[in-house]
Amino acid sequence: MLERLIEKRPDGRTTVMLSGFIDETADLEALLGDVEGEIALDLSAVQRINSIGAHRWIITLARLTAHRRVTVEAVPYSVGMQANYVANFFARAEVLSCLAPYACATCETSTNLLIHRDEVSLRAPTRWCKRCKNELVFDELDGYLDFLVRNRS
Ligand SMILES: [Zn+2]
Repeated sequence: MLERLIEKRPDGRTTVMLSGFIDETADLEALLGDVEGEIALDLSAVQRINSIGAHRWIITLARLTAHRRVTVEAVPYSVGMQANYVANFFARAEVLSCLAPYACATCETSTNLLIHRDEVSLRAPTRWCKRCKNELVFDELDGYLDFLVRNRS
């Protein structure tokens, strides 16, 4: 089940926050088809995507981004993994940020932190543990961020 929360921004753009599963039960056309103008897609609350969902996502995004500006924010880990496997996963949309996995070796905890594409050089940006203040370890291969930086302008 996939749901949406829509918010009109003062600048005229529309934020669409999707939450739940992008799978065979997700009606992406119904959730995105009636939104007009520029769209900012917030994916932070998407919990899972499967191959059927990814297939539908690609078709919907290709149509959605054909004639307007679409930005994508806070791409969660599961979606990022799919995006790295599939060409044109975000069509012409601009991917601005993602939730990336970091771990603290001292506290033995892991967390997903928001990183913006402009913070990524060859590696993931440095983050520090909120509890012990030590530097966190980026808990993925650097290549994980490919989907975030490959269409960076
Ligand atoms: Zn720590």
